[in-house]
Amino acid sequence: MPRRRKKKYKIRWGRFLTVLLVPLLLLSVLFFHFTGDAFQDKLTDIGYTKEEITYLKKNLSVENLNLLKEYEHLSYLEDLLKTDGYKEENFSSYLTYIENLKEDYDLANVVYLVNENISYPYSLKLVQIVQHPYFIRERLDRYMAYQEEDVNTIITNVNSNLDYEFYTHMMPSDTSKETLLIVNKFYYLEKDYHYGELVTMEKAYDNKNGSKLNQTAYEAFKKLVDDAEKEGYHIRNNSAYRSYETQNNLYNDYKNSNGLTWADKWSARPGHSEHQTGLALDVGVKDEYVLGKFETSKEFPWMKENAHRYGFILRYPKEKQYITGYGYEPWHYRYVGVDVATYIYEHDITFEEYYAYFVENK
Ligand SMILES: [Zn+2]
Repeated sequence: MPRRRKKKYKIRWGRFLTVLLVPLLLLSVLFFHFTGDAFQDKLTDIGYTKEEITYLKKNLSVENLNLLKEYEHLSYLEDLLKTDGYKEENFSSYLTYIENLKEDYDLANVVYLVNENISYPYSLKLVQIVQHPYFIRERLDRYMAYQEEDVNTIITNVNSNLDYEFYTHMMPSDTSKETLLIVNKFYYLEKDYHYGELVTMEKAYDNKNGSKLNQTAYEAFKKLVDDAEKEGYHIRNNSAYRSYETQNNLYNDYKNSNGLTWADKWSARPGHSEHQTGLALDVGVKDEYVLGKFETSKEFPWMKENAHRYGFILRYPKEKQYITGYGYEPWHYRYVGVDVATYIYEHDITFEEYYAYFVENK
């Protein structure tokens, strides 16, 4: 009996060795092959030096090292790891992205596109779009759909909503933006809205009687008029705050006498007039009521070069009519505060562009 038992144990022990240890041994050989030498040989073949391979081993997880066997062109590896913005968690995405490229690329661009999770196929145009200073991530699909080659134009136009027709895709203006709220052919105000407190303008600043303007804008305008006076320029208000009702009547008068196209070019539909904010005004020379005459006055160039120092912008410039949707209005100024006005003046952009990039989603 004891002999038999002994024999039995011997058989079990032998099986244990064969069934468990041998596969374990084989597995560990395989394991070392794939984590250690497989990529090492591959990288050596590609032309990496020992030092470079050591660097990669040091800076990549075993998991990422193992990924290497699935990819063909790996000569960029070390550069990739040293590229600004590189994230190890995106390693396999970078490799897949690069592997599928059909053209020359810049690693920094690839890293940027992958980090931003941009799935459009790589192209120079795509890179230029996403790296444009006024690129807005949320509008990527709209940029890509816009039929235009020049990237500056794409960014400017889509940021200004020009991929939509005027008076379509209309949205209520976000009045929490206060002096930076926007009103145009896409954004409208509720019927009874105006920004902040309206005050009645003193006669010294007004060609009319009892015009109203937002208090902050008015204080700035008074300073502007006073400073201009000191230099011999006589700037006055010709039209400031207008209620929804007033605008409604005005617009309908224009439409009835000159037609819809003319009315839409020179006047705003009710709710879409900047005059309703209380932050805009049409300026003129003292005792000169005809808006069109302002452009030929000596006050006009002064206003154009100095208004931003008081927080006002020329809202509908000559070269930007296709963006603003309005004819050139040398007389129409909008209060946005000194910093914003100065930025817009110095960068020669419209409020539409400024708003999209700096205000809307901030
Ligand atoms: Zn106006």
